[in-house]
Amino acid sequence: MSEPSLIDPAELARNLAEVQTEIAAAAKAAEREAGDIGLVAVSKTHPAAAIEALHALGQRRFGENRVQEAQAKYGALRDGLPGLELHLIGPLQTNKLRDALALFDVIETVDRPKLAEAMAAALQQPTTPIRMRACFIQVNTGEEPQKAGIMPHEADDFIRHCREDLHLPVAGLMAIPPAEEEPSPHFAWLRCCAKRHGLRQLSMGMSADYPVAIGQGATLVRVGTAIFGHRPALR
Ligand SMILES: *Cc1c(COP(=O)(O)O)cnc(C)c1O
Repeated sequence: MSEPSLIDPAELARNLAEVQTEIAAAAKAAEREAGDIGLVAVSKTHPAAAIEALHALGQRRFGENRVQEAQAKYGALRDGLPGLELHLIGPLQTNKLRDALALFDVIETVDRPKLAEAMAAALQQPTTPIRMRACFIQVNTGEEPQKAGIMPHEADDFIRHCREDLHLPVAGLMAIPPAEEEPSPHFAWLRCCAKRHGLRQLSMGMSADYPVAIGQGATLVRVGTAIFGHRPALR
């Protein structure tokens, strides 16, 4: 059964410290610098009070998977959260693109030509309010039909298209491996693909597997449950 989401600052502080300790340990084991690994605190479904408490503890990067929920929560909060860096980690529909470009600092889910082309067009219009300064290309490494992401065999062409034809500010690659599979081969595939393209950033690893992802080169890990507690069952 799921417990209610955490808004007790002491418990959030303990969880955050635990995750930071795990990140440092995984980095050390991989002979990497802990400072090269960024933590995205995934706040979807969790209340503003929990976000504010985490910000007060020094956490600056947050992730949300729905544009509307993020607007509702962060639109009002933002002025009180200096240094906030907001990431979109869920699928983006083209009709929400303008809102997303104005709200998120980083969009991690560029996953198809139609979206990439609409993004490039919007970025070229001087009247579009833009906050986004970097994007990631999401790859469906498990080739799961229900999951977003460009298919692995199309990834090379799509990455080139986004960078060379569309001039999108692509910082790296993102993936969500199949829940029931050993994630390492997926992480390794993503790392090799990024390397081929000279991309430095790798967003991979969630509560269940972020230490493994760090071992495979993750530069951003997206952690929700291990910080905030369980989400309501429907999500
Ligand atoms: C919800 C979500 C996460 C965080 O998952 P946890 O298992 O709660 O850490 C990470 N990445 C994406 C894309 C998500 O939607």
